[in-house]
Amino acid sequence: MSQLAEIEAIAASIRSATKVVVLTGAGISTESGIPDFRGPQGLWTKNPEAQKLSHIQYYVADKDVRVRAWKARKDLRPGRFQPNRGHSALVDLEKKGKLDTLVTQNIDSLHLDAGTSPEILIEVHGHTREVVCLDCGERAPMERALARVEAGEEDPDCRSCGGILKSATVSFGQQLVEEDLDRAFHAASTCDVLLAIGSTLEVTPVAYMPEYALRAGAELVIINAEPTPFNRSASAVFRNPIGEVLPEIVSRV
Ligand code: NAD
Ligand code: ZN
Repeated sequence: MSQLAEIEAIAASIRSATKVVVLTGAGISTESGIPDFRGPQGLWTKNPEAQKLSHIQYYVADKDVRVRAWKARKDLRPGRFQPNRGHSALVDLEKKGKLDTLVTQNIDSLHLDAGTSPEILIEVHGHTREVVCLDCGERAPMERALARVEAGEEDPDCRSCGGILKSATVSFGQQLVEEDLDRAFHAASTCDVLLAIGSTLEVTPVAYMPEYALRAGAELVIINAEPTPFNRSASAVFRNPIGEVLPEIVSRV
């Protein structure tokens, strides 16, 4: 089948579906200028040492890791990057009444910035709009913590208890929020179409979503430059840039 015919076929499946669920990973934000982890230009591909920033045990044990993490947060501060055509296409899909749930592994808030409704969005790995104290659990706006970093504090601590502060993201080694996972898995097991976009589909437990969808008889569509473990089970795989393919599909829905 030609690519255009494939795009038409997927758009038709979405039109006739009663429940469409989308899963996004770091790949949908690379066109906004935020590097992914495992792609060819990924942060971890280029510098495996950078993985430490995402592991809770290193973060807690090593002040240097925290200092580097605060610098990285300053670079990725909310509002610095703009959503791209991929994010906007998902807003259009929602406006067409064809997006039931959007599950994202991303922490960059770009789906919200683009205009996706918070009610349909599940940020399974958290977000960077807030910081949380690892000791007392208190939350505060990221902006306030970054202002302290800006003013010279290398590793700002919790104002209430002196504990370690971290962005409100789920690092490796931390528990995911059970309610979010339940919602995500329920969505996957009850949909007719699952679009998996910009994810290697290797990070569990979210990587189980395609499994659940397939078991429920749903169609799996993958948009990702590199192969994923699910490419052979998918009814369509697009390896072109997300910002090109996704708007093409959505405009035909
Ligand atoms: P990943 O880094 O493991 O993989 C991203 C995939 O997207 C790669 O296979 C890459 O080939 C593909 N890709 C990149 N740009 C693309 C494009 N324009 N078009 C098509 N394909 C493209 O991402 P992941 O599986 O989501 O896992 C990384 C984890 O790290 C996530 O769970 C997330 O929490 C976190 N993370 C988040 C961000 C963010 O919020 N923007 C960025 C980096 C990492
Ligand atoms: Zn505290």
